[in-house]
Order: sequence, then structure tokens, then C-alpha cells
Amino acid sequence: MALPSPVRTTQHNISLADIDDDAYRVIRRLHQCGFEAFLVGGSVRDLLLGKRPKDFDIVTGARPNDVRRIFRNCRLIGRRFRLAHLLFANGKVLECATFRAEPFGGEDGEAVLITDDNEFGTPETDARRRDFTVNALFYDPQTAEVIDWVGGLKDLDARVLRTIGEPVTRFREDPVRMLRAVKFAARVGFHIDEPGRAAIRQERKQLKKAAIPRLYEEILRMLWGGAAARSFELMDELGLLEILLPEVSAWLSRGSRDPAETLRALLATVDAKFQGRQQIENGVLLSTLFWPIFQDLMHDRPRAVDSSGARKLAEELVGPAAIRLRMPRKDVGILIACLEQQLRIAQAGPKRTARIQVARHAAFPDALDLLALRTEAEGLDEDALAEWESLRDVPRHAEPDEESFTGGRGRGGGGRRRRR
Ligand code: ATP
Ligand code: MG
Repeated sequence: MALPSPVRTTQHNISLADIDDDAYRVIRRLHQCGFEAFLVGGSVRDLLLGKRPKDFDIVTGARPNDVRRIFRNCRLIGRRFRLAHLLFANGKVLECATFRAEPFGGEDGEAVLITDDNEFGTPETDARRRDFTVNALFYDPQTAEVIDWVGGLKDLDARVLRTIGEPVTRFREDPVRMLRAVKFAARVGFHIDEPGRAAIRQERKQLKKAAIPRLYEEILRMLWGGAAARSFELMDELGLLEILLPEVSAWLSRGSRDPAETLRALLATVDAKFQGRQQIENGVLLSTLFWPIFQDLMHDRPRAVDSSGARKLAEELVGPAAIRLRMPRKDVGILIACLEQQLRIAQAGPKRTARIQVARHAAFPDALDLLALRTEAEGLDEDALAEWESLRDVPRHAEPDEESFTGGRGRGGGGRRRRR
């Protein structure tokens, strides 16, 4: 249902002081050159929610070549859809995109995967091609107007995450939007509207058609974003986890202790501790998803509990997901080592020489990060953790990749490397 004109309002809480100075100057300069230009997407959403935006994306009527002519610090990127990046001294990059046209549906209104997005459009088409209403708001810092073509302000007030247009169609066009829905809903505490939830349940298998690196990226973003516990809970509830990480989802439904609670506690600790800021390896974050299962497996197979048995078990557990999601070799190496090292740490005994031996392993600092998360989530002994922490900087064996996962195909084989 097309609105005749957008809602324009200056009744909002965004103040100029919250806006990145460079983004403001870029928009002003584009205006001076006769082009429309707005802040858009996540930054407007987050500003309206009183949160500090991660980045300030700009959208404009200027074509990429115009942008390059106007700004000396401009670099054009992307082949299919040219996008301008504006580079600033402190390493900051502002993205400046040209209004795009609406993605085109297939015959008889059947949704198709978007293959060619390279059509310039108008502010309205650009707003409507976006994924969720709250992600499609424009803000003009010079007039202080929020411009809403899609009912995003109303949804923002009601804390509802709603697709622009029919959810089944939008999820078929780009199945990764289902994961984005979960990520945003979890992060800002919004409710995915009922048609959206039903569409996700119905279309979840479409995820198998999505580009694998994008799926992997979204998993990492959920772990990073400060709302991992809620994200994975919601993914489980909507059936997405079963498609993405069936081993985790199966375990949640039939683990021996209280699996959902174990995982939730660990992810809640990730959220509290890291909030997307502190440095931690992807492999460590991923290990929080597998640790509770690994712990269960170890209980069930006490005879496997020596170092090589533990490693084999970790490889068997993580291997299928690593191949399916084409996890980079480094991430898998750290993930497996983190799991296995928990056992070595537990079995090291009180002697300092034995402990130093464990601490010399290349992945020890990563294993220690997992141990710190576990200590909080599982209520383990904090003094014990402190003792291990004191060994964080002992000189260690080189080659973190030494024992990395080979997927049973020997070095360098297998499908776990990121493909272009
Ligand atoms: P974040 O705070 O995570 O950066 P964001 O809303 O800025 O959130 P981005 O992934 O940076 O999200 O994308 C920027 C904007 O581009 C989104 O707000 C949305 O309007 C649009 N967008 C991104 N991905 C899609 C997609 N798959 N389909 C439609 N629109 C999208
Ligand atoms: Mg963004």
C-alpha cells in the first residue's frame, strides 16, 4: 500500500550534537552541490532510540561519480552496485550510497532472489527496498526532519519489527533478512510482528539458499552484538537454529542437564562482558555455543577423557558445522582448542610446572577467555581462574594453527576455507 507522501516531522529526540561532525559536513556539502542527502538506516533508528549509532550511513541523489568529484577523500567500491566510501583521518569511513530502485519481483509477483540491485532510484524507492520499517527512516540534519515513507516511526514507538511489504516475499528475496530480524529484535528489544514470525517459521528453510559467508557473518554478529542470549533463544523459538546449527538445536531439545539454561547463562555472560567492544576471538565466541554440548559428551564418554580423545571428540562435534558454514581455518582452530583445553586445564593438578606446560599451548589465552566466561556462567572458583590468569603471558609454542582442524582430509583440504 503506497503512502501518498511521506510523514515528515521535527517532533523527535535527535539532537545535532549526537550526529557525527563529518557526516553532517558531508550532507551539507552535498546539499550545497544541489543534491538531496540524508542520514539513513541504523543510525537514524539508533538515534531515535537514544542509542549511540555504530556508523552514520548517508544516502543521496548524487551518483557515485558525482560523489567522487565532490570529495577528495572518496573511494568507490563494489562492482555490482557502486558505493562511495569517504575516508577520514582517524580511520573513520562514512558510507555514501546513491538512492536505489526497488528490487524487482519475478513473474506473477513471485518473489525472486535479488540478482541485480544496480538501479538508481528516488528517496521513496530507496526507503521501500530496505528490510524493516524502522531501518528505513531518513534524517535531514539541516532541517532536523525525520522522513518516513513506510510507517517506521509508528513501529518504533510500538517497539515492533516489521518488514516493509509482505514478509514472505521479503524473506524469499533475501533469506538473510530472517536472521537480521532476529538480530535487531534481540538487540533493541523489539517484537517481531506476528505475520513476520509466521513467515520466518514458514520460510526458514530458505536460509539454505543464502550465501554461506553471510550466514556465518550474521552468527558472529549475533554473538558480538550484546544480545547473544536473546538472539539464540529467538532463533531456537522460530526454528532458525535448527537450520543453521542443527547440532546445537538438537542438543537443546534433548540434552541431559538443563541445556537451554546452560547455554543461556554462557551467552548472557558474553553479552555482559563484551557488549561488542572488548577484543575476543571469533573462535572463543563460537566455543560458547559448543561448550555445553561438549561438556555433556565428555560426561557420557568418560573413557574419551584424555587429551587426544578430547580433541577427537571436539573435532567430531565441531567438524560438520565448520564445513557447512565454511568457517575460516583460524576460527575453527581456536574453537576446537578452546574446548579441548578446558579439559587440560581441569586435569592439570596443583603443580605449577604442570600448569605452565598447559599454559604454553598456543591457544591458551583463548581457552582462558572461555574459562573466564564459564567461571561466571557456571559459578566456578574465581581464585582458580585468577591463578590461570597469572599464566596468561608465559612464553608459548609458536604456530597457533599447528593442530588445526583437518576435517579428516589432511592439511589444506576440506571445505572450511572461505571461498570467494
Ligand atoms: P547495524 O547497527 O548493525 O549496523 P544497520 O541497520 O545499520 O544496523 P546494516 O547491515 O549496516 O544495518 O545495513 C544498513 C541499512 O541497509 C539497514 O538499516 C537497512 O536499511 C539496509 N539493509 C541492509 N541489509 C539489507 C537487506 N538484506 N535487505 C534490505 N535492506 C538492507
Ligand atoms: Mg550499519
